[in-house]
Amino acid sequence: MKIIISHDVDHLYASDHWIHDLIIPKLWIRSLLQFFRIQIRFSVLLHRLLYGFQKKWGYTEEVLEFDREHSIPSTFFFGMSRGLGMSYSLKAAEKMIGYVNARKFDTGVHGIVYSDTSGIQEEYKRFKSIAGDRPYGIRMHYVRRDRNTLKRLAEAGYLFDSTEFDKNGVIMRGPYKINSMWEFPLHIMDGYVLQAGNVEQSRKNTIRILEKVKEQGIPYCTILFHDYYYNPKCYPQERDWYGWLVQYLEERGFEFISFKDAIKELEHDSGHKDDRIREQHI
Ligand SMILES: [Zn+2]
Repeated sequence: MKIIISHDVDHLYASDHWIHDLIIPKLWIRSLLQFFRIQIRFSVLLHRLLYGFQKKWGYTEEVLEFDREHSIPSTFFFGMSRGLGMSYSLKAAEKMIGYVNARKFDTGVHGIVYSDTSGIQEEYKRFKSIAGDRPYGIRMHYVRRDRNTLKRLAEAGYLFDSTEFDKNGVIMRGPYKINSMWEFPLHIMDGYVLQAGNVEQSRKNTIRILEKVKEQGIPYCTILFHDYYYNPKCYPQERDWYGWLVQYLEERGFEFISFKDAIKELEHDSGHKDDRIREQHI
């Protein structure tokens, strides 16, 4: 079993949220509750209360650097529309996509529109126009989908998607094809395995899924870590969890692979190559 790591870039700057959504007051309330339940320290509470006044929320550059040091060929998904607390501008996304691509990491779309074909195509086109190349993959923000979303994504021209996720358990399935698109079900999402204030339980939850996926003979285990959780002052537990997870995987000899290389392997195994993966982007 190989490991695919990706990062949904939900936030870039605090100022995006003062104008477009209610994320900041919601975060204050949630953090106060977590503090009174003794799930976060006072210093974390304080930093979260001041979080809205910090310029930078995204930790794309830092996570990229960490992944580079650990030879993890991760993928970063960027929003092409605003919605559900993802509020940065297309211009800001463009800048960060350029940064990530220049460092030879993969980028894709963090989708907002999931139930309307033309909206899905519009996000695809926006990415293409700002990134200078078509998006290869997508994951929907909040893993939202209806019964036709994945089919629509395939029609829009995506090579892969990683949205399928079981919020109440673990999806025990490996990659499969929907028309010409590969679907990589998401096995481990940070927010679902992390238990605030309980490091041991968070680790146990993670190991349990890893072992289950391996037992089932699933060839790729897909992991999502939100880059903004790499903030050491506001999200120390989340950041530590990611560091621990990567070390855990390294110590056990797991190999990291990108979605695109996994597709190459899958296509090779099934006897034909997908020529949509152009060499210069691999
Ligand atoms: Zn998201």
